[in-house]
Amino acid sequence: MPVQKLALTLVLFLLTFSLIAQDYFFKDKAPFDSNIPSPETFLGYPIGEQHTRHDQIVSYFTRLAELSDRASITIYGKTHEHRKLVILTVSSEENLGNLDNLKTQHLSFTNPEESPTNYSEVPVFINLGYNVHGNEPSSSEAAMLTAYTLVASNSDEVLNYLNNSVIFIDPTINPDGRDRHTQWANQFKSNSLVSDGIDAEHNEAWPRGRTNHYWFDLNRDWLLAVHPESRGKLTWYHEWYPNVVTDFHEMGTNSNYFFEPMKPIGSQDPIMPKENYEALNNLFAPYFSNALDNIGSFYFTKEAFDGTYPGYGSSYPDLQGGLALLFEQASSRGHLQDTDYGTISFPFTIRNQYVSSIATIKASVENKATLRKYQQDFFKSAVTKKAKTGFSAYEFGDAYDMNRNKAFIDKLLLHKIKVYKQGEKYIVPLKQPQHRMVQTMFETYTKFRDSVFYDASAWSVVNFYNIKYRGLRSAMIGEEITSTANLVNVARVQRSSYAYIIDGDDYNAPAAIYYLQSKDIKVAAAFKPFSIKTANGNKAFNYGSILVPVSKQKKSSDEVYNIVSEAQNKYDVPLFAVNTGFSTKGVDLGSRNFVNLDKPKAALLVGNGVSSYEAGEVWHLFDTRINMPVTKLQMRNLKNASLDKYNTLIMVSGNYNQLDSLQRQKITRWTSQGNTLITIANASKWAVEKKLVEEKLTEKEKDSTKTEIVKRLPYVDASEHLGREKVGGAIFEVDLDVTHPLGFGYRSSSLPVYKNNEVFLSPSKNEYSTVAKYTANPHIDGFISNDNLNIFLKPSASLIVSPLGKGRVIMFADNPNFRGSWYGTNRLFLNAVFLGSKISVPKDDN
Ligand SMILES: [Zn+2]
Repeated sequence: MPVQKLALTLVLFLLTFSLIAQDYFFKDKAPFDSNIPSPETFLGYPIGEQHTRHDQIVSYFTRLAELSDRASITIYGKTHEHRKLVILTVSSEENLGNLDNLKTQHLSFTNPEESPTNYSEVPVFINLGYNVHGNEPSSSEAAMLTAYTLVASNSDEVLNYLNNSVIFIDPTINPDGRDRHTQWANQFKSNSLVSDGIDAEHNEAWPRGRTNHYWFDLNRDWLLAVHPESRGKLTWYHEWYPNVVTDFHEMGTNSNYFFEPMKPIGSQDPIMPKENYEALNNLFAPYFSNALDNIGSFYFTKEAFDGTYPGYGSSYPDLQGGLALLFEQASSRGHLQDTDYGTISFPFTIRNQYVSSIATIKASVENKATLRKYQQDFFKSAVTKKAKTGFSAYEFGDAYDMNRNKAFIDKLLLHKIKVYKQGEKYIVPLKQPQHRMVQTMFETYTKFRDSVFYDASAWSVVNFYNIKYRGLRSAMIGEEITSTANLVNVARVQRSSYAYIIDGDDYNAPAAIYYLQSKDIKVAAAFKPFSIKTANGNKAFNYGSILVPVSKQKKSSDEVYNIVSEAQNKYDVPLFAVNTGFSTKGVDLGSRNFVNLDKPKAALLVGNGVSSYEAGEVWHLFDTRINMPVTKLQMRNLKNASLDKYNTLIMVSGNYNQLDSLQRQKITRWTSQGNTLITIANASKWAVEKKLVEEKLTEKEKDSTKTEIVKRLPYVDASEHLGREKVGGAIFEVDLDVTHPLGFGYRSSSLPVYKNNEVFLSPSKNEYSTVAKYTANPHIDGFISNDNLNIFLKPSASLIVSPLGKGRVIMFADNPNFRGSWYGTNRLFLNAVFLGSKISVPKDDN
C-alpha cells in the first residue's frame, strides 16, 4: 500500500474509532461546542485505549479552564512526589462569575446561627472525587469525560445541571499511586490485547499503585490527616462544605458494580444522622439504577461495604452535613481481562463510572432543596443536641510532652474543631458545629450491632496520642486556640562547657538524638531518673533523658553548642544546660546508669509478601519525623546482602515462610552477634513459630476429659461467623514497665495500644522480658469477640524482648506505628531502635 493511502486509512480508522468512542460514552449529550477539545482530541487516543498519566489529566483540565468560561482550575496541594492536586470548578458562566456570592449563600446553610430558607434558589455544591486508590484507574478517565461533557455540551440536560449546581471535579485524589499503576499498565500493554489474567499487565509489582508515596491508604486518611493529599483536601473541604461527594473505586474483576445504600452502619449508636444512610441514599439509588439499567450494566447494593469508619472519602463528608457516595466498579486491571462472563474492558469500566457521575449530578440537582435543608438541620442540631454521655466538654493534655499535645491539637484544628486553653489543660466543648467530630475523636464504643467490619472498629483518636482526657459535665472554656504555631514554648538552651540534657519525655527526643548522632555528637541515655540544677533551675528528669557530655566530644564546646542549638531549633525539644555533674537527687551524670548510645543503622525488609502498609508506616516515621535514612532491603536481595553494616533489622507483618532455612540462619547469626531484630505483629508470630526465640504463642486450653461435639450451622452464616473472630482494629490497655528501656519516656504504666491482628504472644518465662502486658480489663474501644478477648488477649503480652546470643529480638504483638497516627506507641518502637543495642535480658541463674 502506498504511504499516503496507508495514512488515509489510518486517519479514517482513527476517526471511526473516535466516533464510536463518542457514541459509546455520551451519545445523548450532543451538541458539543467544537472549540472545546474532547479528551481523545487532546490526548491523541480514545479514552480507554491507554491509561492516562496524572500530568496529562492536569494539562487537559488546565486547557478546559483556559478555553471555557464554564470552568476554572484550583491547585489545592502537592503530593509527596510533587504532583499537583487539582480541582476543576464547573458551572454556568453566570454562576462562576458570581461564585463568591453563591459561596456565601451556600455557607450560611452550614452556620447554625443563620436560618436562610431559599433552599432551591442556591445551586447545589457537588464534589466529584476520583481515584483515591491509584490502581483503580477507571474513574480518573471518567473524570475527564465528565469534565468534557459539562464544559462542552450544549444539551438542555447539561445546561440545566450547570444552572443549578457548582461542580468541583477532583480527578485524582492519589496521583502518586495512580502514576505507579499507569506506568505499569501501559508498559505491559500489547497491541493485541492479552486478556489472560496471569499476564504481567494485570499483576502489578509490590507495592502496587493503591497507596500513596509512603504506601498509605489515602482512603483511611481523611480522619487521621497525615499526608499532604488529605491535608490539602481537608483544608479545601472546610472552605466549601459540598452537599454531595463521590468516591469512586474498583473491586474484584469478577464482580459487577456497587452503589449505595451500603450495609447498615455497624455502630450501635452511630454518630451520623439516620436520615443520611436511609432517606438520602434511598433517594439517590433509583438514579443510579436507572442509569446503569439503560446501558445494560449489572450492579448490587446493601450487601457489602460499611461507612462505620469515619476516615473514608465515603463517610467523612457524611459527618459534615453532606451526602457521601461510594461507587465500586469491577476492575479490568489493565486494558482487557478474562472474567467468568467473558472479558471486561477498560472502556466498559470507565463508562459505568461516567454514567454514575452524571447520574450523581442529576440526582443532586433534582433534590437540591432536600440536600440543603438536610445540611442546615445537621449543623443546627450540632449545637442543640445533647451527648448521650451527658458530657458538655472534654478536657485533655499531657503534662510532660508538649509536642504530642501539639500534634493532636493540629488534627483537631484541621477538622475545624474548636479548642480552648484553660490553665494547663485544653478544653473541647461539645456544643459547636463540629459536635460529631468531637464525638469521633473522644468517644469509645465496645458494643456493636454488627461484628464484621470493612475496616477498623475503633477511632477514638485521643487514645492514638496516649493523651489523658476526661469528659466534663460543665466547663469553663478559656481562651480559643487558633493555631499550633506557639503551642510549644521551650526556653532556648544556654551555652555550657560541661553538659546538656534533653528531656526524655518529649515525642521529638528520638529525632533530636538522631540529629546529634548524625553530627558525630556522643549521647547517653539515663537508665535511672535524676534531678539536677540546670541553667533554668532545678529539674527532674525521667528514665531515657539524654545526656550530651561536652568534654567527651571530639568537637570544641562552641561547635557542640551550635549543634545542640540546631537540634533544639529543629525539633523544639526541652533542652537544658548544666554546669555540674552532681545531681540533687538520683544518679549523677558520671554514673554507670548513663549508657552511651550507638547510632542506629537500620534496614527494613520490604517486597513481595511483606505488608506494604506496615513497612510504609516504618519508612514514613523515619523519613518524615526522625529524618533518619532506613535501607529498604528487598526480600529478593536478602540472600546475598551483607547485614554487617546494620545494627537494627525491622520485620513487619508478612509471609516469611518464603525465607528458607539459610536465610533464617543468616538473620539468626547476625542477631546473635549483638544486633537487634525488631518484629511487628505477624513477624513476631513467625519468630516464635520458627524458634528464633524461646517464646510461645497463647493457646486455647484443651479439656481432654470432654469430646468436642461439632455443632452444625447454616452455610449462609459462615462468613459472618468467621469474620467475627478477626480483630479488625481495636484499642486495648496494656500495663507498661516504664523502668525498662523500651518503656522509657512514659510516665504512666497505663498505655492504649492498637491491635488489628490475631497475634497473641504468651508472657515470657523470663521475669524481665515482658515489657507490656494487657491489663485485666483491657478493652478500650472497638470490636473484639468474647473468645478473642477472654481466651487469647487477656492472658497475653503486647511487647516482649527475648535474648538471641549476644543480641535480642524485640517482638511487638500490636502495631505501634499504625497509619502514621499512633504517637502514643511510636516511642516504644523508637526506643527499640535507639536503645535496642543496650538492652540485655537479665537472667536468674538459680
Ligand atoms: Zn478502592
